[in-house]
Amino acid sequence: MQNVLIIGSGCAGLTAAIYAGRANLNPLVLDGHEPGGQLSLTTHVENYPGFPEGIMGPELIENMRKQAQRFGAEFKAGAVTEVDLTKRPFRVIAGKEVYETRTIIVAAGASARLLGLKGERELIGHGLSTCATCDGYFFRGKPIAVVGGGDSAMEEANFLSRYASRVYLIHRRQEFRASKIMVDRAKANKKIEFLTPFVVDEILAPEGLVKGIRIRESHNGNTREIDLDGVFVAIGHNPNSIVFRGKLDMDENGYLIPREGSLTSVPGVFIAGDVQDHRYRQAVTAAGSGCMAAMDAEKFLEKHKD
Ligand code: NAP
Repeated sequence: MQNVLIIGSGCAGLTAAIYAGRANLNPLVLDGHEPGGQLSLTTHVENYPGFPEGIMGPELIENMRKQAQRFGAEFKAGAVTEVDLTKRPFRVIAGKEVYETRTIIVAAGASARLLGLKGERELIGHGLSTCATCDGYFFRGKPIAVVGGGDSAMEEANFLSRYASRVYLIHRRQEFRASKIMVDRAKANKKIEFLTPFVVDEILAPEGLVKGIRIRESHNGNTREIDLDGVFVAIGHNPNSIVFRGKLDMDENGYLIPREGSLTSVPGVFIAGDVQDHRYRQAVTAAGSGCMAAMDAEKFLEKHKD
């Protein structure tokens, strides 16, 4: 029987593990599909407080993991396939493993959608990014592309125009999912060039570093190559919340909805990080919410001593 079972080992899950560990709760962390979460897919992180020179994402996450282990957190590989939240102790199933636990912290994160191109994932951190706030600064004075037609793409294109010499906004349709005000703002920005309707055929990275992009006009198949140094894929995120469907409150996009702090509709189940946040999505906000969830879990256990 676990006191605290933490689902997910990104920034939120590991911070929860540090706090729960220091509260002598011996948390168990289930790693999930992407151990270390999105930080493990980035390179240089310059906006996490406390690192004046910045730190590599995988190193930051490894440090957090060691810090949690130092306070007694245990880690198990595996992704959750089923949960029973109807009674306490809760049951969490990850493949062949079944766990019983008094509390759960869901910190399963969200995965940035990718275009599905060959070699795309390997280029993350080498010119391809899914986070403008994290990586925009690296493209000072360089041409880049943003792919997508939603609010994120518009917002990121505007944000990136502060750094980049030119921003190509590439979208597969002529119409935009983004709100009109966001599209108008991007269109009024002289640094942003709209390329629609175009799909991305290939990201050109001859030596493992993004150097260009080949796009294809949707209606006539004409192709065009553009030299650039960065590609920001802004086509949305998928929260990793499927196993909680019908069990925890979620919005129409699958993001879990907190009640107060990290609390949910099920007493004893707490949520943290990107699985419940489509707005800020930063390492530091995920860490903060992980801390909140661990403190809420501790308080809950104190109140419900068996
Ligand atoms: P989104 O609204 O779902 O838009 C995703 C965009 O990516 C769509 O234009 C879609 O094209 C395109 N796309 C999806 N899959 C693609 C693929 N495989 N290849 C090429 N293009 C693809 O996602 P989002 O922009 O991340 O926004 C998510 C939510 O957050 C929305 O509710 C949004 O309003 C909100 N948000 C708000 C703000 C703000 O108000 N400041 C900022 C950011 C996000 P199609 O249109 O052709 O499907």
